[in-house]
Amino acid sequence: MNILIIGSGGRESAFAYKLSKSPRLNQLYIAPGNAGTKQYGTNVDLKVTDFEGIAAFVLTNAIDMVLVGPEEPLVKGIHDYFLGRDDVKHIPVIGPQQQGAQLEGSKDFSKEFMFRHNIPTAAYRSFDKSNLEEGLAYLDSQKLPIVLKADGLAAGKGVLICETVEDAKAELNAMIADAKFGDASSVVVIEEFLKGIELSVFVLTDGSSYKVLPSAKDYKRIGEGDTGLNTGGMGSISPVPFADETFLAKVEERIIKPTIDGLKKDNIPYKGFIFIGLMNVDGDPFVIEYNVRMGDPETESVLPRIESDLVDLLEGVAEGNLTDRSYTVSPKTAVTVVLVSGGYPGDYESGKEIANMENVEDSIVFHAGTKEVDGKVVTAGGRVLAITTLQDNLFEALQQATADAGRIFYERKYFRKDIGFDLI
Ligand code: ATP
Repeated sequence: MNILIIGSGGRESAFAYKLSKSPRLNQLYIAPGNAGTKQYGTNVDLKVTDFEGIAAFVLTNAIDMVLVGPEEPLVKGIHDYFLGRDDVKHIPVIGPQQQGAQLEGSKDFSKEFMFRHNIPTAAYRSFDKSNLEEGLAYLDSQKLPIVLKADGLAAGKGVLICETVEDAKAELNAMIADAKFGDASSVVVIEEFLKGIELSVFVLTDGSSYKVLPSAKDYKRIGEGDTGLNTGGMGSISPVPFADETFLAKVEERIIKPTIDGLKKDNIPYKGFIFIGLMNVDGDPFVIEYNVRMGDPETESVLPRIESDLVDLLEGVAEGNLTDRSYTVSPKTAVTVVLVSGGYPGDYESGKEIANMENVEDSIVFHAGTKEVDGKVVTAGGRVLAITTLQDNLFEALQQATADAGRIFYERKYFRKDIGFDLI
């Protein structure tokens, strides 16, 4: 099978790595990819939202399947674009159509979906310009802290946790009246604050059956001990020790099944991954958010634990017979440590030569923000590499991943040495 992956980050590197292990794979292409995806396939110089260019490439290169990594092309309708063209509509796209992608693209849509299908989530109300005054008054009656969420995509910055009513009112005004996040905050979801520990569960579905992928927890803050600014993710672990069988059974019964059934009842076709961000509140799961694709850096610790052939699973999604496909997961623990450019998530420099990647002992090196210049691999983003190791337990995995992260060199390299340490 010839497969085209859309995207260029650590997540897409992990997909490329995993697909390249399949005996069923013929040619692998990554658009646009990075310096590391070249070891698994051929990089293609196309933007992730250049649907016309992607379709043309698919036709000239006899691509059998398109796997979409990031949310942007999904929310902008890459799948619908393919379905709308007679010459490419038979080529499966892994990732939902625009309607299903609304689960991530609109928080108001996803909250309505959850309430309609009795899926546990925080209480909420949505407001826009037409009822802003009501929204401000509503804040007076709410417990603190209170959560304000821009309805649309805001690059992970559209969620504010406010400690005072004054602050919440000022932010609600800024979001709706002053378009703080542009169009994304023309509607704002005001949501009850849930206190607990976060984790993520991933589901692969063909629209009626599903496989529950390994659980994972990501570490978002830049500093050790979960301090400092939020980032795209500084590391992840899988499995999550506190997500035991009892808890995961609750997740499946109360959240996963009603989500898949809800999509069917609402006539929303869905072929692809669902990333369910959860809060464990005293042993009970609540949905914080849906994403319509895999997470980054969670993918880097989830995929290496899947023993089955990913090409086979994705084919099951495309053909609607996922339930018949073999699926096994390694009992080992994965730790992923992300190496970033000094200064990230603020200003940082790029173009630093990366050395010593071959001396990593027992980890997989997934590239994220890297590119090749004159035959050398250099940094080209905030998050540069993601290093994943699989070991018998969390402690050994943390030690190995940290040691291997230390073996790589580039100017102003930074990484957290405590990924998973809070759970040991
Ligand atoms: P990201 O892209 O970073 O995942 P997002 O913009 O899609 O974020 P959410 O995941 O909904 O937004 O929220 C971001 C973070 O805010 C969550 O990971 C969680 O830590 C916190 N958060 C969101 N909703 C709540 C809630 N109801 N109670 C407590 N914390 C919350």
